[in-house]
Amino acid sequence: PHADTAMLPVMPSGPRPEDPAAAHERLRSAARTRAAHPRRVRVRQLKGLARMLQEHEDRFLAALHQDLNKSAAEALMTEILSVRAEIDHALLHLTDWMEPRPAKLPLSLRPARAQVEPRPRGCVLIIGAWNYPVQLLLAPLVGALAAGNTVVLSPSEKGPATAALLRELLPQFLDAALISVVAGGKDCNTALLARPWDHILYTGGERVGRIVYEAAAKTLTPVTLELGGKSPVVVTESRNEGAMARRIAWGKFTNAGQTCVAPDYVLAVGERARAQLLEQLPQAIEEFYGAEPRRSPDYGRLVSTEHARRLERMLTEAVEAGARVVVGGQTDATARYMAPTVVADVTPDSPLMREEIFGPVLPVLTVDTFQQALDFIAERPHPLAAYLFTDRPRYHRAFEEQVQAGAISTDVTLAHAGIATLPFGGVGASGIGAYHGIAGFETFSHLRPSLTKSDQVDTLKAVYPPHGWFKRTL
Ligand code: NAD
Repeated sequence: PHADTAMLPVMPSGPRPEDPAAAHERLRSAARTRAAHPRRVRVRQLKGLARMLQEHEDRFLAALHQDLNKSAAEALMTEILSVRAEIDHALLHLTDWMEPRPAKLPLSLRPARAQVEPRPRGCVLIIGAWNYPVQLLLAPLVGALAAGNTVVLSPSEKGPATAALLRELLPQFLDAALISVVAGGKDCNTALLARPWDHILYTGGERVGRIVYEAAAKTLTPVTLELGGKSPVVVTESRNEGAMARRIAWGKFTNAGQTCVAPDYVLAVGERARAQLLEQLPQAIEEFYGAEPRRSPDYGRLVSTEHARRLERMLTEAVEAGARVVVGGQTDATARYMAPTVVADVTPDSPLMREEIFGPVLPVLTVDTFQQALDFIAERPHPLAAYLFTDRPRYHRAFEEQVQAGAISTDVTLAHAGIATLPFGGVGASGIGAYHGIAGFETFSHLRPSLTKSDQVDTLKAVYPPHGWFKRTL
């Protein structure tokens, strides 16, 4: 078992996971039978998935509490209901999505029929991450099943209770011939990645993202990479400073900061914006989690002691380099706890600014002008999300125009990631491709063009040789 969960109640480990090579062989041949193609089969899978989440909601909430100390409310919102919304959206639109899309033809080729038809890619691999162990495996699964594929799911080994539950329940509620939930983890993924797939969707950090991309290059497998990065929040003076601070704190401290689109750091534009924020953030934190967040049933834990030590180290080094803890800072690595923490006087070369924090530490940097904030973002790798809080339409327009990020949101954080009508994905260093809603359906489909031109009357004669009629000599 995972070292940090050894002391927690033991969950049944579920059925033995299928060997990676066997899973690949089995689902590849299942894909060749086209058993997952018919619309009614797709609908049955999606409804099965919804039923599984509904009937076993309590067990999912218990597993997520065990893995990450997620409160029932938070787990319900960010993991269960978000997937159910994806399923409902897919069920509502599946017929439209599957419909061939007619294409216009040049006059010279008429009469004929041209169309683009979404076709299943075949057998696909989905590799999940531990921070949202249900959502990050099942939301891509919705797209893959809606698109008519067979699927191998590789959960993160760092969410063991959730992985065991998915391994037990998915084959009961879906057609077991169309899916497999393997053990997950490095060795399993290495074995899986050596094989050819029709598509791979990977969610996780950049280091492993490169490993996945390299392995996929060897088999020419197309990939979607859902990575992370340092998502900035630009804050200007606000008339709604309370709401602003609450929305930043909510985005940052949900799941103890372990959210790929969590605000990583704040760029406060000018002294006043900085002062407003440093005054309001501690209040927001106390409103959410009380004076002792450790006792709050709504505050999560870090995934491992190792991860807690890493954050502790980053914070200590930042303070040694001159940063100041405004609120929080308390840690207990063996309990995987770290208080919601805000750090001021952070400089661009601070240890907190070197890599994605992925924990409950919010550094606040100050710049003099709005343009400096935009330049700061532009000089760094494209983040997965970029946030702006402002009262000024001019700043809003400049932000929309100049910031390159996976997604941008104004006056709110995080929420865009839960909207099925918005594609979700990165750009540049934060990822390749997107999913959610129709983007997920299309990611797992081949948009196949086709042309049908009757030969009953041969209207193509003009293009056949000999071309003696064409009076141009070279
Ligand atoms: P992780 O440790 O769960 O790893 C991701 C996956 O890679 C897991 O399934 C793991 O088993 C697998 N893996 C680990 N080592 C491997 C190897 N050598 N070869 C093949 N597979 C291997 O997750 P993580 O990387 O710690 O996740 C945190 C990162 O993920 C952050 O950067 C975060 O921003 C990003 N993230 C992105 C999204 C998104 O949707 N874009 C969502 C969540 C997390």
